Amino acid sequence: MPRTTYPQGARRPLLTRGGFLGAAALASALAPASALAAPMSALSQTLTKAERDALSPADILAAMKQGNERFRTGKSTPRDYAAQQRATAAGQYPAAVILGCIDSRVPAEIVFDVGIGDMFIARVAGNVVNDDMLGSMEFACAVSGAKLVLVLGHAACGAVKGAIDDVELGNLTGLLARIKPAITQTDFKGEKSSKDQAYVDAVAQTNVKLTMALTRQRSPILADLEKKGTIQIAGAMYDLRTGTVDFLS
Ligand SMILES: [Zn+2]
Repeated sequence: MPRTTYPQGARRPLLTRGGFLGAAALASALAPASALAAPMSALSQTLTKAERDALSPADILAAMKQGNERFRTGKSTPRDYAAQQRATAAGQYPAAVILGCIDSRVPAEIVFDVGIGDMFIARVAGNVVNDDMLGSMEFACAVSGAKLVLVLGHAACGAVKGAIDDVELGNLTGLLARIKPAITQTDFKGEKSSKDQAYVDAVAQTNVKLTMALTRQRSPILADLEKKGTIQIAGAMYDLRTGTVDFLS
């Protein structure tokens, strides 16, 4: 008899310990119930090296889409963070690195429904790149083995509005300057004002694309890993109103 039953019938959720889907998880999902390793481990354990290494960048992207779907529909996975904290104390094998904004409404682990140890998260206002962010992403992929770089912008971004409004304030001035190329490269018909949400979101999307391009330009390490298919560099926009992450093609 299976140790766990799921309300939706015969299909066991394709979850590994960290919530990621992959070849190993698929094999275990298709195995007889008696051969399944701890079906509830998504609650309390974390991604192992073997599980992470078995995933392709496309598997990870698909799992993140599924995780956002769970979050968006109010079906996030319950997690035992204390158990995950203990399980990750000796090592971490995150599958992805996210470059996101500091906005308090866009907590990446929550909107992708992942647990402790699943993702590296680099956050800076306006999700821009600088040498330190590039170094962090190079560490995540080339040293630690993460396979997906996701630049995550979001709707109604205050940093984007600040760049549009030419805000000047201490060190923020220099940070906003990194967003300004997205303003000049955004084709928009209508009032180009920080009060126009469609305009702000269009600039934010351009900013994600420019950040992806700059990452490839300024990091030969990441660009080479992507060319080899070891990693994928992707972009997405998060909608604050719906909780949906839209991946850019
Ligand atoms: Zn923001």
